[in-house]
Amino acid sequence: MIALTSDQKLMLETIRKFMVREVAPYSQEMDENQNFRMELKEKFNGLGLYSATVPVAYGGMGLDLTSFCLVIEEISKVDASMGVVIQDNGTGLRPILLCDDQNLKKEVFSMVVNQGLSIGFAITESHAGSDTASISTRAVRDGENYVINGRKTFITNAGISDYYIVFALTDPQARHKGMSAFLVDADIPGLGLGKKENKLGLRASPTADLILEDVVVPRKFRIGEENTAFLLLMKTLDATRPTIAAQALGIAEAALAYAIKYANEREQFGQPIIDFQGLLFMIADMTTQVESARALLYKTTALYDQGFENITPFSAMSKLLCTDVAMRVTTDAVQVLGGYGCMKDHPVERMMRDAKVTQIYEGTNQIQRIVIGKSIKRKGYPFHSGG
Ligand SMILES: Cc1cc2nc3c(=O)[nH]c(=O)nc-3n(C[C@H](O)[C@H](O)[C@H](O)COP(=O)(O)OP(=O)(O)OC[C@H]3O[C@@H](n4cnc5c(N)ncnc54)[C@H](O)[C@@H]3O)c2cc1C
Repeated sequence: MIALTSDQKLMLETIRKFMVREVAPYSQEMDENQNFRMELKEKFNGLGLYSATVPVAYGGMGLDLTSFCLVIEEISKVDASMGVVIQDNGTGLRPILLCDDQNLKKEVFSMVVNQGLSIGFAITESHAGSDTASISTRAVRDGENYVINGRKTFITNAGISDYYIVFALTDPQARHKGMSAFLVDADIPGLGLGKKENKLGLRASPTADLILEDVVVPRKFRIGEENTAFLLLMKTLDATRPTIAAQALGIAEAALAYAIKYANEREQFGQPIIDFQGLLFMIADMTTQVESARALLYKTTALYDQGFENITPFSAMSKLLCTDVAMRVTTDAVQVLGGYGCMKDHPVERMMRDAKVTQIYEGTNQIQRIVIGKSIKRKGYPFHSGG
């Protein structure tokens, strides 16, 4: 178990109260109608959530990965769609945090902190999902600008983000070694949106294609050196996969708590159903899985925050375990509620649908296993000395 600082406790208490008061009453309606309430953007910004990971020196909250994951976990306990709304902005900010361009940092962080602007993240294309190296969006240098053409698929927060990090090829012959990343203004001429996807889960967070037709981006909005963005992408994922793990963990914890409460209250055959050993064993397994997932996640974030070098397999393992646990635990929570679990009157139905998405985005769990397996092959095991 991680020991929370008094600052972390206060922050989580504030978020919890906010989520219960301002979001929970609308979660079912937002899910049903696939409708993100735009006024929440301002409220999230009021809490400092969009600049949560921006360093204090630039006016942000300066949260390390552990604290940011705690935030995502807390939000996702109430509404996992809102979890990804905030998580995705953290993913959009990460390449800026990782790059060495001080001018870019200053400009972007000041926009985020002072104007509450949010950033989406666009790598996926219709033919390039797991195989991110095979994107074909093209950026061509034109004097002090780049001209970008292409189409990005399944982009989270499309239409509600103010900027997007767009990955494009600047040297197509070199494939992933010719990839660069750009910060693209959502209102720039030539940038359009595809239809809003009608999704299984996380329905209150909008998902759509980004269509780029002769979009002109100033060179100063290229992130890092030309042709180095694939490495930047990998480093970004090392930091962001744990945040998806945190989202999944929040879902699992909420489903478990709901199932336990229900099992204590629901009576069949003259006794609370929790007194049937078959059901109690199920709840014991769910609890064990949640606690194991939490332990691995916060071990991973502690290693990341300490600057541990071989973080990649830990990030992948935490994403794999937490999201698989979320899927199992939410499915079992529906089972605990029986027929009522299938009804929209109880949140476990939504949680089960939300959990499924976490096993897929930011790298499917098959891809996580490949990442973990390659690390074992290359560097052996244990991944680190001691602890
Ligand atoms: C709700 C949602 C939001 C998203 N948001 C974003 C976003 O904001 N930005 C963004 O860039 N992308 C986003 N994505 C895209 C997401 O990251 C991809 O969907 C995901 O990486 C998988 O790609 P794919 O859908 O093309 O599946 P595919 O790559 O076609 O995979 C299909 C199946 O094949 C398996 N598979 C593929 N390759 C291998 C392999 N080598 N070995 C074993 N199995 C393999 C996969 O695991 C999967 O089960 C989002 C997706 C969803 C569903």
